Amino acid sequence: MTDYDAIVIGAGNGGLTASLTMAKAGLKTLLLERHNIPGGCATSFIRGRFEFEVALHQLSGIGTVDFPGPLIKTFSDLDVLDDIEFVEMKNLYRVVYPGKMDLVLKADRAESIKTLQEHFPNDADQIARFYDFVWEYCNQWIHVVLMKDAEASAQKYPVFFKYALKSMQEVLNEYFTDPLLLSAIGMYYAYLGLPPRLSPFGEFALVLWGYTEFKPWHIKGGSQALSNALLNKFLEHGGTVRFNCSAIKINVQDETVTGVITEDGDEVSTKRIISNAGTYNTYIDLIDSEQVPSQKYKELAGKSVGVSGFTIFIGFDEEPDKLGIREATNFLTMDADANKAYDYSKTLLPAKNMLFTCYDVDDPQFSPVGCCQGALICLAYGEPWLKVPPARYFERKYEFARHMLTILYKVFPKCENHIEEIEVATPLTHMRYLGHPGGAIYGFDHLGKDTDFFIEKASPIKGLFHAGAWMGSGGFQPTLMSGASAGRALIKSLKN
Ligand SMILES: Cc1cc2nc3c(=O)[nH]c(=O)nc-3n(C[C@H](O)[C@H](O)[C@H](O)COP(=O)(O)OP(=O)(O)OC[C@H]3O[C@@H](n4cnc5c(N)ncnc54)[C@H](O)[C@@H]3O)c2cc1C
Repeated sequence: MTDYDAIVIGAGNGGLTASLTMAKAGLKTLLLERHNIPGGCATSFIRGRFEFEVALHQLSGIGTVDFPGPLIKTFSDLDVLDDIEFVEMKNLYRVVYPGKMDLVLKADRAESIKTLQEHFPNDADQIARFYDFVWEYCNQWIHVVLMKDAEASAQKYPVFFKYALKSMQEVLNEYFTDPLLLSAIGMYYAYLGLPPRLSPFGEFALVLWGYTEFKPWHIKGGSQALSNALLNKFLEHGGTVRFNCSAIKINVQDETVTGVITEDGDEVSTKRIISNAGTYNTYIDLIDSEQVPSQKYKELAGKSVGVSGFTIFIGFDEEPDKLGIREATNFLTMDADANKAYDYSKTLLPAKNMLFTCYDVDDPQFSPVGCCQGALICLAYGEPWLKVPPARYFERKYEFARHMLTILYKVFPKCENHIEEIEVATPLTHMRYLGHPGGAIYGFDHLGKDTDFFIEKASPIKGLFHAGAWMGSGGFQPTLMSGASAGRALIKSLKN
């Protein structure tokens, strides 16, 4: 007899959907979380009268009533659809390069094409061709990857086979040369955490297509409301959660899971674990090295820790409209070359590209009456921040933040005099709260070789499963779906 049918380590998106999937199936499940609230990245914190959203800028995979997205099925299977209220975001994004470019792309293919053609008339035909091409790629992806066509071949699906792993830059270069157009159309590279020269085109195509077709969404009450809904449903189904309780060891005998040791010194037995703690932490910190086949370490050594973020959370004492903020999602750029801008994320030099999200534009009740909140974020790797001597950390952090605010004020000058609350998070902040190396928010760098096509999802340790960003793609939709999928795989293994 073991204490639990299954233990889940970590209550991030993946850990929560994994726990709920198993509790719903009647498994006696224990969820361990080192922090004092559920959510991991999907959380909020309070300063003054503001509850700040930490991570969710745009939720993908929701879709509309007529065209529901894949995440609706996941939430429906988990029976939480009635517990979450979604807020549709009107537009994909505004992209501003002060003095050079300012345009808004709607979450609609025809409207996006029209706007881009108006701004770049010389490229009108190429813009239409590019959108046709992206949609055709995604259509073929659906047949090959989602529907698993048994007869899939390069002859039958030439666009998918030829382009999936080409770099995003290579493909964009086949269509465009104008650097401003490349910047405007390729801004979602930031959601992949890699620049166009390193991002696989297939990943970019899915993001552009996915947000346009299924629309960008937010959640009433922020991502914490989603995390709470998942946790509450887990508890309703008899699950047990322990907060402020890290797993410090996964007990393994003969390459088979036997249980977990918690930071309180409790030894809890189980034959099945889902780890949402990330693959590095799981295999390097939690499992005795003699129990891990050397091949696993070789595989991990071939990957690189992905990007984190530098975020400024701002509470304004004024409504968005009065501050000149009309779009929820604003990409601010100071360099049209996204590849060059990305290189700054590996240094402490002032960022060139950033995203400013104001949640109250689409959800006027997000902040207290008469106020609004914004998150100003740029991609930033943990490594340069880890090298800052502790005595200089705050000085560097505020210097970096001041530079980002200068760019924000260039685009939204009225913001400068209406800041009521402000808080700054560096990659080290994310590292402290999440426990991931470098504070990575999307897991590993998702280079072509680390995409879903090649990742080995099964663990060499019997009874061990993984959920979350380190086991596929980062972001809300993939991690929420990965947890549900890990839960189902664990249940299936029981039946076998
Ligand atoms: C600032 C920011 C902005 C983002 N913007 C977006 C966006 O707009 N759209 C989008 O789709 N995605 C966005 N993301 C990314 C997205 O939030 C993440 O990829 C996703 O939430 C990660 O989920 P996960 O399941 O991997 O778990 P994580 O969120 O990484 O959580 C892991 C959990 O495990 C816990 N844990 C770790 N080790 C242990 C242990 N030993 N014992 C117990 N518990 C442990 C941690 O405390 C944490 O709660 C953003 C992230 C950040 C931080």
